[in-house]
Amino acid sequence: MQLLDGKAMALQIKEEIAGEVRQLTQQGHRAPHLAAVIVGEDGASMTYVANKEKSSKEVGFTSSVYRMSEKTTEAQLLETIEFLNNDPDIDGFIVQLPLPKHINEQKIINAISPEKDVDGFTPINIGRMVLGEECFVPATPMGICTLLKRYGIETVGKHCVVLGRSNIVGTPAANLLSRKGFDCTVTMCHSKTQNLKELCLQADILVVAIGKPEFVTADMVKEGAVLVDVGIHRVPDATKKNGYRVIGDVKHSEVDAKCSWTTPVPGGVGPLTIVSLLENTLKAYKRR
Ligand code: NAP
Repeated sequence: MQLLDGKAMALQIKEEIAGEVRQLTQQGHRAPHLAAVIVGEDGASMTYVANKEKSSKEVGFTSSVYRMSEKTTEAQLLETIEFLNNDPDIDGFIVQLPLPKHINEQKIINAISPEKDVDGFTPINIGRMVLGEECFVPATPMGICTLLKRYGIETVGKHCVVLGRSNIVGTPAANLLSRKGFDCTVTMCHSKTQNLKELCLQADILVVAIGKPEFVTADMVKEGAVLVDVGIHRVPDATKKNGYRVIGDVKHSEVDAKCSWTTPVPGGVGPLTIVSLLENTLKAYKRR
């Protein structure tokens, strides 16, 4: 079993981006600017945004975070988005999900200018992605594709089973991996799928984005499969300084030995997701 080491790869790509940003600024251009909006104080969301901010700074981007209270109204959030859409200094921004229940997430996403939608969540970018047009690809599936491509994983004609059909991970991942270039034959599974185990056992490449801790067990994975675990869960752990540890959607202790390649959790898909966001921001900057 070999590791699809997202952490190491993210470092390498960040160095490449930082080199490009250095060149741009040495030529007298301003640095790319990525902004993030966070509503409320959800612990995981705050960690994600802090990581995005840290990574932005590491590559030389300007980074700003708009922290809004849990009680922010939909109208107030829409106003902030309007401001960011029109701020000429900002190349791209993200609205950290999930949002508090009283805010309609899709309405907020729809309000983001597609040209600054570096998360690739707006209907325009999703439509362009499905058509194979130039667009911002959602960061997590883009990270999965980068990981497979840069590690030289053979994908052409392989059976890829994607567990999960969310708009931000499963559905775009299934779309991208079935496209020319990757050329997988893709099966996308969800909570109503029958014979899930049998389908998983047919997977040459198994992408798991199901949101259930350690759901995938050894009896569901074919010998030699390539495994991509997107899941992130914090579970209490008194032995850790911060009181928790991070696990995935796959029971790695028993599954990894069967795989040819596997993503660790943490340190697999997560770091590549952040790097993809940086790559999209650099692209937005260059377009402008
Ligand atoms: P989500 O929106 O909750 O979607 C989960 C998907 O799994 C749904 O399509 C659901 O089916 C399906 N599902 C749930 N239970 C199932 C079952 N028993 N059998 C088959 N399918 C089942 O989750 P998400 O946003 O895609 O995220 C998935 C995981 O990835 C989470 O752990 C999340 O924290 C993590 N994540 C990680 C990153 C990263 O950067 N590493 C980024 C985003 C998300 P239905 O559609 O039928 O309900």
